[in-house]
Amino acid sequence: MPVEECEVTDTSADLVILGGGSGGYACAFRAAELGLSVVLIEKDKLGGTCLHRGCIPTKALLHSAEVADAARDGEQVGVKASLEGIDIDGVNSYKDNIVKRLHKGLQGLVKAHQVTYVEGAGTLVDSRTVEVDGTRYTGSKVVLATGSYSKTLPGLELGGRIIASEEALNLDFVPDKVVVLGGGVIGVEFASVWRSFGAEVHVVEALPHLVPNEDEYLSKQLERAFRKRGIKFSTGVKFTGAEQNDSGVTVSLENGEQLDADLLLVAVGRGANTAALGYEEAGLTMERGFVRTDERLRTNLDGVYAVGDIVPGLQLAHRGFQQGIFIAEDIAGLNPPVIDEAGIPRVTYSQPEVASVGLTESAAREQYDQVETFTYDLAGNGKSQILKTAGAVKVVRATDGPVLGMHLIGERVGELIGEGQLIYNWEALPEDVAPLIHAHPTQTEALGEAHLALAGKPLHVHG
Ligand SMILES: Cc1cc2nc3c(=O)[nH]c(=O)nc-3n(C[C@H](O)[C@H](O)[C@H](O)COP(=O)(O)OP(=O)(O)OC[C@H]3O[C@@H](n4cnc5c(N)ncnc54)[C@H](O)[C@@H]3O)c2cc1C
Repeated sequence: MPVEECEVTDTSADLVILGGGSGGYACAFRAAELGLSVVLIEKDKLGGTCLHRGCIPTKALLHSAEVADAARDGEQVGVKASLEGIDIDGVNSYKDNIVKRLHKGLQGLVKAHQVTYVEGAGTLVDSRTVEVDGTRYTGSKVVLATGSYSKTLPGLELGGRIIASEEALNLDFVPDKVVVLGGGVIGVEFASVWRSFGAEVHVVEALPHLVPNEDEYLSKQLERAFRKRGIKFSTGVKFTGAEQNDSGVTVSLENGEQLDADLLLVAVGRGANTAALGYEEAGLTMERGFVRTDERLRTNLDGVYAVGDIVPGLQLAHRGFQQGIFIAEDIAGLNPPVIDEAGIPRVTYSQPEVASVGLTESAAREQYDQVETFTYDLAGNGKSQILKTAGAVKVVRATDGPVLGMHLIGERVGELIGEGQLIYNWEALPEDVAPLIHAHPTQTEALGEAHLALAGKPLHVHG
């Protein structure tokens, strides 16, 4: 093992990890499994953003939203039901209980892995040392995993009726009218929840489309679905200012439009949490506040790695998990393969869901001479019709080559991207996938149909 032998006490270990979110704790657990001693330092709650302020609580809200929609739309499937209203205290306690249970489970895992857990705010002193409240923790290696925070725009101060996702998650009321600034994943998910809860919602996005990082086909389909749901949006237009008083907030756009609302949610991206942590003083190379690493997640300081949202790229929990595992295995000398950023699945859990992996069609056309696509409409998929969802599966392949990307929209398609990422990451050809069998009636058949069609043997396809 290349790790220097070092005596394990409470303050020295093979690995000192600063930050106990998805990236930090995944690294801690894998390192412990590999026999390394680990100190994990966390100033707030083990589990970080994803568990306490991100993935989990938002998905609980989205599930409450789904149930509200089901009650409202029951008659469409012959069920007499009506939505009497949203009991926001009930919604919040359902959400909070899930977080509490998972938090407890995670604390148990720290104990089970015999990770030394330190509560407190740490700063990097040098490439071997992190200091917490005057105590120095030294590691043969140090992993930085301090995560991210909600950004705002210059001149737009958060406070009062102008909120970020952290506050949006813990509202004790359902707003009547909301403006959401930012049509990326976080903005779109909250827009979806609030609309299902009965609010009037208007999303403002400076780029030409909602979910602008996705294949344009998905953006257009989502916009169509949002229009049908009565979610308003203004795209390709910049925000110029917001004024708030006791009765509301007025948001001004550069096209002269003014939007009145109870709340303005600012969802314009997340900055890296790297300020005042000793990073620059220790000599780390930074990039717009993020920590620069090579493809093996090594910083410019020997023995110091970075993981998760502080590393430029997709800010997703499962990226953090995988990077954390990667670093632990790299340190233990297992020489894991470099993570392909494009192979990380991306899901927006709105109604409808948007899911993708690999390259968009336009990125594939830039990188490959010949590209083919096939789009399978969920209108042809029995289970999607049962669920009454519109949507599609679009598959992009290199001509005579592997699948380069998959782009899905529709109710529950987030679950389908599990198969999509296997196909993409195993560099399968549609011809490899075509003979594999999908259970009927499931939405996975839509994936199968798209691959059958690209392999030249379409089944349930018109024309
Ligand atoms: C509203 C929202 C919804 C999201 N939904 C999803 C989703 O559905 N799926 C998904 O994959 N991702 C989602 N994300 C993103 C996901 O939460 C992040 O990508 C993930 O949490 C990043 O993990 P991390 O370990 O890099 O950082 P974090 O989870 O932010 O953890 C960093 C930890 O470091 C601690 N820390 C910081 N500074 C110090 C210090 N000086 N000393 C000690 N500890 C410190 C913090 O307290 C924190 O616990 C969502 C994010 C938000 C905001």
